Amino acid sequence: MKTRLIDGKKMADEMLDDVREQVSGLPRAPRLAVVLVGDNPASLVYVKNKVKASQRAGIRTDVYRLSPVLTQDALEAFINDLNADGDIDGILLQLPLPAHLNADAAIERIAPDKDVDGLTTHNLGRLMVGAPNLAPCTPLACLHLIKKACPKLAGKNAVIVGRSRLVGRPLGQLLLAHDCTVVQAHSHTKNLAQVCARADILVAAAGHARLIGRRHVKRGAVVIDVGINRVGDRLVGDVNRAAVTGVARAVTPVPGGVGPMTIAMLMYNTLRACRRGEAKSA
Ligand code: NDP
Repeated sequence: MKTRLIDGKKMADEMLDDVREQVSGLPRAPRLAVVLVGDNPASLVYVKNKVKASQRAGIRTDVYRLSPVLTQDALEAFINDLNADGDIDGILLQLPLPAHLNADAAIERIAPDKDVDGLTTHNLGRLMVGAPNLAPCTPLACLHLIKKACPKLAGKNAVIVGRSRLVGRPLGQLLLAHDCTVVQAHSHTKNLAQVCARADILVAAAGHARLIGRRHVKRGAVVIDVGINRVGDRLVGDVNRAAVTGVARAVTPVPGGVGPMTIAMLMYNTLRACRRGEAKSA
């Protein structure tokens, strides 16, 4: 079987251009506040990529760099101020935070309607009851890539390897909402290869380099690789792409798959948050 590569970079650029076009019809550009605590080198790169994407999408992004020794109270007070600022549509708290800070508590401070990362319990709960508000960006990115390769999702068997709050769990809810039969695998799952081999859609989000090989993939499956793992000086996914080529129908590359699409979804969520804010204040 010929295995098609799903080009996440190209799809992300298309989405950014689409957001830009929609922004051009708004009375003002949406505004995103990115809060970066400390100077984690990986976070600096991620934030730079977000700023670059926002420029393409016509979204104004302000990066607030806060001291690595900031207290929890000061961080939460800062977020409260952003919540109260009527010019700011979206707030993103760049993770991870320095170890002395409680990320979950800080995320909870973000007003749900400005939570463009979709990680507050309010927004995750909305997803859970089938009434989504702002959903998390990486699961949205996975769904978008999946739909490209597999437009009709109803009745498909989906297996997600991973059950994190950030990726696995919310993606399970999104696929369930699209009438897939969802299996959520994790570190206690027995016979992982057998479980995965039933999937029409297989999503690897374990953070375990090349965990998914040929044995895990059903012939003709769509394989989405969320993992980002550093092996030596290279970034590799959770899928051994060489091994699944010829078995899978389509697969996302790492890098160039879920990563850029996730950032595009952040811009899309910011546009949505802005639109809703405008509608409320009208
Ligand atoms: P977490 O560490 O929070 O969760 C990993 C999940 O995978 C857990 O549910 C864990 O199970 C499960 N798991 C770990 N090892 C195995 C295994 N051997 N077999 C089966 N299940 C396993 O990670 P995240 O969800 O935050 O991220 C996952 C990966 O995706 C990482 O590589 C991360 O860097 C990447 N990522 C990429 C993004 C992108 O934009 N491309 C965005 C976000 C993340 P259990 O619950 O039992 O511990």
